[in-house]
Amino acid sequence: MKISVITAFPELMRSYIASSILGRAVSSGKLDVRVVDIRDYSEGAYRQIDDYCYGAGGMMLMAEPLAKALEAVSEGAKPYVVYPSPQGTHLYQELVEDLSRREHLVIVCGHYEGIDERFTQRYVDAEISLGDFVLTGGEMPAMAIIDAVARLIPGVVGKASSVAEDSFYSGMLDTPHYTRPAEWRGEKVPDVLTGGDAKDIDRWRRRRSVERTLERRPDIAARAGIIPWLSGGAYVAEVHYPVLGRGGEKVSTAITGMDLHDIARACRAYGIKKYLLITPMAQQRDMAKRIAQHWTSGWGAEYNPDRKEAFSTLKIFASLGRAIAWVREREKKEPFKIATTAKRAAGAEHWLTLKRRILKNDESPLFLFGTGWGLHEEAMGIADAVMTPITGGRDGWNHLSVRSAVSITLDRFFGWR
Ligand code: SAM
Repeated sequence: MKISVITAFPELMRSYIASSILGRAVSSGKLDVRVVDIRDYSEGAYRQIDDYCYGAGGMMLMAEPLAKALEAVSEGAKPYVVYPSPQGTHLYQELVEDLSRREHLVIVCGHYEGIDERFTQRYVDAEISLGDFVLTGGEMPAMAIIDAVARLIPGVVGKASSVAEDSFYSGMLDTPHYTRPAEWRGEKVPDVLTGGDAKDIDRWRRRRSVERTLERRPDIAARAGIIPWLSGGAYVAEVHYPVLGRGGEKVSTAITGMDLHDIARACRAYGIKKYLLITPMAQQRDMAKRIAQHWTSGWGAEYNPDRKEAFSTLKIFASLGRAIAWVREREKKEPFKIATTAKRAAGAEHWLTLKRRILKNDESPLFLFGTGWGLHEEAMGIADAVMTPITGGRDGWNHLSVRSAVSITLDRFFGWR
């Protein structure tokens, strides 16, 4: 990846780029950073690059030297041009990742009042801010952008897991860290970290990350996939009984091949431990079993190994009670049963509230999805919580297929940010 920085203070940038991790990335050729002095593209004996603002205000950078510098670094191909500005979009991890996928990034550093608006309009692709405060120049934001982008290039940070465990990268804030001595001014490092049990250490670190995130930045839990942060598994139940019929009566519905395939695939993709299919009808269970066998051990398994993996998540039960008992046995604790509904329900809670509760209490969630006209009150009554309906537009029409509802729900809870 190539980054060019257009600046009136090239020495400042050069000394930063030459030091520490960034310096090693540049000298090893993992990152190509070029620093361009705007003055090299100025005209006249005074090498003028700035002038007074029209109307009111102080000095600012002129458009022409910036444009010439940009044309020179572009080498005929259109780079992605970033102008660090307090008026830009706040820098966040996803934006850093997008920037890291650009072949050539050009960062234009402003100074004084900034840069001529005509240059911005003509050439700048993104204005990026470090936060709601004003700095004297764009050099520090440029350094921040380069540093954050460089960390994502494989091999720049020695240990890849350090990057993967960083705050935001995996969706949560990082865990607290300690180094020697084990006791400092009367304060000891948590025992678990010196105990040597890798599993205990991992569990401790994950829990601290979750606690910190919920306490300091509950907002980022919305975009975090939470499976890696839970000590147990997550489950999806497709309930065919007891569900509501057209007239509100208690019925048992028929399974469909499309639901089986699509829900199994979604469960596999989002890391669900088991997809529980619940129907009291023996013939229906047999049919589901035969479809699953075709894909897990029959001809289908060879034809499409991906589908084999998806169908391996499927487990068939005759009743909801048996399915819950099976999860309880497997997890050695009561699953946190969440009923889903397309209708308004008293006491229903927003998915984000439930997501935070699952994280906080380290629950094993079991999502109950009804078929037909939705879960019967008997199934609703078993649940520990009811999730508010998935809705699109404001007119309230939300008659989604069960497989769509499953996919949307899984993405909210377990999608990679
Ligand atoms: N007059 C400008 C305004 O109020 O929007 C501020 C100009 S600032 C003094 C000079 C330069 O510093 C800007 O052109 C920009 O490149 C950089 N800068 C200042 N604050 C920044 C921030 N929070 N994030 C990114 N860049 C910033």
